[in-house]
Amino acid sequence: MEIATKPLEATTTTSNMATATPITVAYGDGIGPEIMTATLKILKAAGARIKIEEIAIGEKVYLGGNSSGIGNEAWDSLRRTRVFLKAPITTPQGGGYKSLNVTTRKVLGLYANVRPCVSYHPYVHTKHPIMDVVIVRENEEDLYAGIEHQQTDEVIQCLKLISKPGTEKIIRYAFEYARAYGRKKVTCFTKDNIMKMTDGLFHKTFDRIGEEYPELEKEHWIVDIGAAKLAETPEVFDVIVMPNLYGDILSDVAAQITGSVGLAGSANIGDGFAMFEAIHGSAPRIAGMDKANPSGLILAAVQMLVHIKQSDIAAKIHNAWLRTIEDGVHTSDVYNDSVSKTKVGTQAFAEAVIERLGQAPLQFPKADYSNGDKHFDIKISETVPAVRELVGVDIFLQHKDRNPDALAALLKDIESSGLQLKMITNRGTKVWPNGFPETFCTDHWRCRFTREPQQGVSYQAVVDLMQKIHHRKLEIIKTENLYLMDGAPAYTAAQGQ
Ligand code: NAD
Repeated sequence: MEIATKPLEATTTTSNMATATPITVAYGDGIGPEIMTATLKILKAAGARIKIEEIAIGEKVYLGGNSSGIGNEAWDSLRRTRVFLKAPITTPQGGGYKSLNVTTRKVLGLYANVRPCVSYHPYVHTKHPIMDVVIVRENEEDLYAGIEHQQTDEVIQCLKLISKPGTEKIIRYAFEYARAYGRKKVTCFTKDNIMKMTDGLFHKTFDRIGEEYPELEKEHWIVDIGAAKLAETPEVFDVIVMPNLYGDILSDVAAQITGSVGLAGSANIGDGFAMFEAIHGSAPRIAGMDKANPSGLILAAVQMLVHIKQSDIAAKIHNAWLRTIEDGVHTSDVYNDSVSKTKVGTQAFAEAVIERLGQAPLQFPKADYSNGDKHFDIKISETVPAVRELVGVDIFLQHKDRNPDALAALLKDIESSGLQLKMITNRGTKVWPNGFPETFCTDHWRCRFTREPQQGVSYQAVVDLMQKIHHRKLEIIKTENLYLMDGAPAYTAAQGQ
């Protein structure tokens, strides 16, 4: 499977391998060291022209007091090599540790996460013999902004951020990828029936940009039924582009239904940086047991070799790997009595691939990367600033009394330059005026103040309003300005409004 990227600047070294490309390697946590050892063994045996800079990241770095799990020396290496082969890492639970994977993807601008999920029927047991889906996952935003706040005793918030440039980049990338690799269809998954503005932007951008690719079939699915369809009949999909969270979840599902989550590799692509990894995690339960399937990382390394313009070695390894699978040499995650012949551990699997270097698969199509790496010049449109008019404010309060009418009574006579209480919601559902007594209310209230008829107000009016609310001894925990943008409301109505 080829992966499209921007070309790298040529990097050479004066070491004993004059043409070797420096790459940064991290052995990771859990099964990481085992699958990395297996993968590097194969790269070496195949004659990959690489010069490895090893960095320490992950659990040890976290527990050593660095809450990002990666130190300055590691960043320096990544800046030097711009190519990262990374084993999975364990993010310690709680304790304020930020996911290193998410940090790396965002800091290095790796906006496209390309995850091919392919069935290897009849050699790997699967219910889905005809499956060749490429999931293109947005990699930098969505709920992975990781901006969370406990706002009240009862309610915690996680911000879902979807940007116009971020959306345009990933959707254009998916279409360019489909065009470059002769794919027929691009599907978009969103939940825009509920998240009309954030996922709505993703869907609308897909429709708009899709018009520039008339030769490709295009379709949109609501993510819930789309996920069900993917799990049931993956053969109807080709390239699927999704916001970050859905892509994270559904690429695991897609890989798992090919036979094992351990089979899929991925490329994280940015403008000038690229990171290659298995899609699975550090599988701590089987760590140190020589049981893990190294295939995901091996196939990620194949993607990396194409990226660093060593297509010959990439093909050699991929073909040997396909032959190993065909020969029924399988790790326990894919071992099945009806199709497998030899059950092997991680390192023996690597040895089996090495033994087959130079051989080709007999049944699977031969991997051929002679066309080299494809690179796309992804352009994003200029953001045209909208005419913004402030017309109100949502003021969020912590308030213990669960009775919305009593809260409304406390706020009703507060007025600031025409701003007046228009409605109160609890967890997004309108509870005043005319709420349902059955609606359960938490201690987290949104109080919408607008000026009617909708007219502009100054920010000073909002500040004055907040001061009056504060003087009533009500606890403001957050505010959101309400704008008209180019005359249209830039906020949603409440459920039940
Ligand atoms: P996981 O992917 O590690 O494991 C899920 C299941 O798949 C487990 O049953 C595991 O044994 C199995 N599995 C995974 N890889 C396998 C392989 N190569 N061969 C055979 N079986 C394999 O997911 P998890 O258990 O949810 O997460 C474990 C840790 O990994 C967590 O700390 C998580 O944060 C981390 N994680 C890291 C990455 C990454 O570094 N890119 C990605 C996902 C999860």
